[in-house]
Amino acid sequence: MSERMLLENLARLPLSVRRVYAGEGELTSAAEVYCQPRERSLGLEACEGCADYAGLVLELDGQRKYVLCHRLNPETARGLRPAVSPIARRLPVDHPSPGDRTPVSQIMTADVVCVREDLSLTALTTLLLERNVSGAPVVDADGRPIGVVSKSDLLRRDGVPGCVAEVMTPMSFVLHPEASVSQAAALMAFEGVHRLLVVSDDGKVIGLVSSLDVMRWLGRLDGYLTPA
Ligand code: SF4
Repeated sequence: MSERMLLENLARLPLSVRRVYAGEGELTSAAEVYCQPRERSLGLEACEGCADYAGLVLELDGQRKYVLCHRLNPETARGLRPAVSPIARRLPVDHPSPGDRTPVSQIMTADVVCVREDLSLTALTTLLLERNVSGAPVVDADGRPIGVVSKSDLLRRDGVPGCVAEVMTPMSFVLHPEASVSQAAALMAFEGVHRLLVVSDDGKVIGLVSSLDVMRWLGRLDGYLTPA
């Protein structure tokens, strides 16, 4: 079998990277993949030690990494993906739209910067400026979301020292990676938010999807050249 045919027969499972800043800015990171045969998220090291591991691939745009797995061919993998419960009431539709057929995992940022509650506000300010982001998910020791923190929270604090726990919003809206882009758009519109966290079956942050991601996807769908 040629190398190309071999690659086509391997399942490509998206790899997510969670970078967590704590204390004065100490960084830990975790790379995870959702293993369908075991029905749970695993660290990349566990996957690399598996007899079915066939390597990592980087998408052409360099934005996403995938684990190649021998255990599942692409068709089987699709069939095994867990179902997603509906997030909002919806009127019946005759034909699923492209937004219904596209999972948020295809448009989300899979390399997410997260923070812990004890991160100092000085370190948070530096992090948001360096990364050029307007906010970050706040996670517990296992990477599960417990809230969000944004530049507006910092502005309200007006330079008074402290830590993330004192300014964060202790609530976040989450989706499963198999939720559709339409569901993400509906949830953002309903809740009046611009960002949703994408979590694995065991509740850990594996991605982030923003209203801008949805707009870029929509523009590309209609043939417009939009930045990745
Ligand atoms: S390589 Fe092994 S651990 Fe990794 S996804 Fe495939 S079956 Fe699961």
